[in-house]
Amino acid sequence: MNILNADLHCHSVISDGTLTPEALAARAHANGVELWSLTDHDEIGGQARAASAAKALGMGYLSGTEISVSFAGRTVHIVGLGFDIHHPDMQNGLQSTRGGRHERAKDMAAGLAKVGIHGSFEGALTYAGNPDLISRTHFARYLVETGVCKDTHEVFRRFLTEGKPGFVPHRWASLGDAVRWIREGQGVAVIAHPARYGFTPTEEFALFSEFKHHGGQAVEVVTGSHSAQEAITYADMAREFGLAASRGSDFHSPEESHTDLGSLPWLPGDLTPVWELLADRIQ
Ligand code: AMP
Ligand code: MN
Ligand code: MN
Ligand code: MN
Repeated sequence: MNILNADLHCHSVISDGTLTPEALAARAHANGVELWSLTDHDEIGGQARAASAAKALGMGYLSGTEISVSFAGRTVHIVGLGFDIHHPDMQNGLQSTRGGRHERAKDMAAGLAKVGIHGSFEGALTYAGNPDLISRTHFARYLVETGVCKDTHEVFRRFLTEGKPGFVPHRWASLGDAVRWIREGQGVAVIAHPARYGFTPTEEFALFSEFKHHGGQAVEVVTGSHSAQEAITYADMAREFGLAASRGSDFHSPEESHTDLGSLPWLPGDLTPVWELLADRIQ
C-alpha cells in the first residue's frame, strides 16, 4: 500500500538538525506522519529517544541512520532503515565513520581563515549539539549568523563545496561496508537523494550496480531533495534496478528546510514501498 504517510529521513540535534528527537516526533505526528524514522548522519545516539517518542504518540517507527560513504571521488549517503541498533558492527562502523570530523573541521577553519574568516571552528562548534558530529551545516549556520552570507545555501555555494576555501576532502566509509552494517542488523539499505551527487551516467550506473551487488535494496524516489522531474527519473531507476522506493523529507530545521516532515508527494503506485520489506521491523 503506497498511500501511507511515511517520512523515513530527517535529522535531529544529534547530527545537524536543530530539533530534538522528541520535538521531531511531535512535529511529524502533528503533520500526519504514520511511519517515521530519524536518520542522523553517522550516528544512532538518538534512536532510543525517537522510538519511545513515536511509541507514546502511537506512530510507527523504523530505526534509522544516514551513512557517509566515499564513492568515485564523491560523498554518497546511504540510509539504513529497520536495522538492529545494538549490532556491534553497526556501532563500531559508525564510530569509525564519525572519527576524523574534528580534524576535518579544523582544516576547514584553516581554509576559511585564509580568506579572512576567523574563528569558524569555535563558532561552528557552538551550533553542534553533538561535537563528534561537527559538520559543514554547523559552519554554514555560523557564517549566516555572523553575516558573511544570507542563508546556508549561499555558504555552501561560496565556501563549502568542492574547490571552495572551506572544502576539505574526506575519506568516509566504503559502500560495501555501509550496506553490510545495515544488512547484518536485518535492515534495508537505501541510496539517499540520488539526484544530488552530480555523477555522470556511467558513474551513476556503477553506484546503482555496486549497491545492488552488495545487497542494497532501495532508493529514495520522493525526497525533499528531489524536484518532481527527479522523482520521475529515479522512479525509473528503481524499476530498472529492481529496487524498492523510499520517501523522506530530509528535514533539518524549521528555518532552513523547504520540505516539512510528512509533506511530500506519494510514491508512484507501481513501485514497492521500502516499508513492505520492513513490515516485521516496525516498532
Ligand atoms: P558533512 O557531512 O559535514 O559533509 O555535511 C553534509 C551536510 O551538509 C548535508 O547532510 C546537508 O545537511 C548539508 N548540505 C550539503 N549541501 C548543502 C547545500 N548546498 N545547501 C545546504 N545544505 C547543504
Ligand atoms: Mn545534513
Ligand atoms: Mn544526505
Ligand atoms: Mn539527510
